[in-house]
Amino acid sequence: MSNNTEDILNILHVLDTGAVLVEDDLSISWTNKYFDQHYFSDQKNLTDLCRDLKPVEDDNAFLHILEDVKSKKEYADTIIECHLSDNEAVLCDVWIYPMSGERLLLVCQLQTQNKTAHCEALLQMARYDPATTLPNRIYFLEMLEEKLTQQQHPEALLSIMIIDFNELDTYDTVFSITSDELLLLTLKERLTDVSKEHTLFARVAPSKFAIVCETAVTPVKVEKLAQEILHLFYEPISVEGHLVYAELSVGISLYPTDANNAKNLLLKAEKTASAIQKTELNSYGFAHKLPEKNVDKILKISTDLPAAVENEEIFFVFQPQYCLDEGRFCGAELLARWEHPELGFISPEIFIPLAEQTGMIRTVTMKAFMEASKMFKALEGRGIKDFSLSVNISPNMLLYSGFMEDLEFFIESYEMADKPLYLEVTENDFARNFSKMIDALNAIRDMGIKIEMDDYGTGYTSLQYLSKLPIDTLKIDRSFVQDIDSDQQQAVLFKAICDMASALGYDIVAEGVETEAENLVVQQYKNVRVQGYYYSKPLQVNELFELLEKAVVL
Ligand code: C2E
Ligand code: CA
Ligand code: CA
Repeated sequence: MSNNTEDILNILHVLDTGAVLVEDDLSISWTNKYFDQHYFSDQKNLTDLCRDLKPVEDDNAFLHILEDVKSKKEYADTIIECHLSDNEAVLCDVWIYPMSGERLLLVCQLQTQNKTAHCEALLQMARYDPATTLPNRIYFLEMLEEKLTQQQHPEALLSIMIIDFNELDTYDTVFSITSDELLLLTLKERLTDVSKEHTLFARVAPSKFAIVCETAVTPVKVEKLAQEILHLFYEPISVEGHLVYAELSVGISLYPTDANNAKNLLLKAEKTASAIQKTELNSYGFAHKLPEKNVDKILKISTDLPAAVENEEIFFVFQPQYCLDEGRFCGAELLARWEHPELGFISPEIFIPLAEQTGMIRTVTMKAFMEASKMFKALEGRGIKDFSLSVNISPNMLLYSGFMEDLEFFIESYEMADKPLYLEVTENDFARNFSKMIDALNAIRDMGIKIEMDDYGTGYTSLQYLSKLPIDTLKIDRSFVQDIDSDQQQAVLFKAICDMASALGYDIVAEGVETEAENLVVQQYKNVRVQGYYYSKPLQVNELFELLEKAVVL
């Protein structure tokens, strides 16, 4: 039991009211003295106890409330009918608090008891989040409202910053409960460093923290703080041997510019954080920079997405890859495109994350596979051999068993096993759940498909991990190629990555070669495959065939 829980139980022992600690399986692991003396004391299990502590409304209501508290991690209260040791039936208020490790704490107070006996300790508990011991949403709003009423200078700015972690739900399913708590505490610890000099720091929702700054606030200072917070999470978090990359967005609202009360300031910062999360991860934004129009546009895109996937609004273009040693175009990457009838071109950087959130990504990916299969056939028809195709795979897809089934079905039905088909997985995705990821990649390679690590250099894969990964190709991120002709350090890094990849036996793709000067440097590495605007922009199918037929030798 954590020290925190023990402290709370010690306080509750001396209360003049009943308290019960209930484990995940609803067994009762602890009761306080008052409960033992005044309520039934021989029940070992909450379901037995529930028969005696009858909910006032219907039989299952009480258990539903308990489940709700557990899943939302937010406290609730209710009224139950309860039989005392002398078998007298009385109404009883019950406060239910989520505790660490899926436990619940029930505090019962007979309605005949003097309400003032409901001591300060209970009030404290209702104000704090049990997992992090930070103020919870209700208390945060109370304190913020008080601050607003105390503002000496009405024109002074005050800022509310919401730090919204994107993947906490996924972590829940991947980790054990203890690791999940460790992760949460690490998030809190990292944020504590920046929140020290600021007045309020709270956990306002399961995956959201809030920080309020009130001294000498200027938008520039707030922006710096937001950047500092994002920097804190560049480094992965190590939780029981797993490396976790936190994905977060920071939403900022300003008082009095955005709202003049605590509730609306909090809502605006939250809305901003979640709007940012839909378009760009690990970024921040101000509420007043996100006009309603933008939010509406994102909503429209999400609503229109399923139909766009079904009809042909979403299609694929091919970005050619050039093999330096063979002096020919030898492959292409499939890139999704959406031509919306009203909104025009929508970048995949906007709609792919939305497709991931709505589950549509499964269909988008299957469409990409179908397109690849059609393309292999068309290439064969034109006598073009040894031309590889790469399909981008979104984060989490590999850990989802339905995807493996889709893939197996596709490989078998479309006879893909002997085709040069690559799946591109970004470097950061490898860290999500290392061992499961390795199993999935091995299974995919067993099906005859190759794996390419996309955006290499933007994540934190250690060399030791890198050497153990079941991958075929490293795709060096564009940021290492940019200015490689004029920036000596870039050139050194690029060479080091190529040397290392070759030593580990991986093929290499360099992406984002835009200029002749950059190409001159990259060309020195004969075993590298190059992709970038210098060679070609992404092309429609017929354009790709034109390019291949011209048999350009660059
Ligand atoms: P990515 O996989 O890193 O794809 C490369 C992106 O860089 C593409 O942008 C491409 O058009 C662009 N690019 C290629 N060469 C150059 C260059 O020389 N200079 C510059 N500045 N850019 C270059 P695009 O098509 O907008 O795609 C953006 C991202 O969207 C992709 O990044 C990928 O993460 C995602 N995406 C695109 N299509 C799909 C898809 O079918 N499925 C999934 N899951 N993600 C996709
Ligand atoms: Ca890619
Ligand atoms: Ca890339």
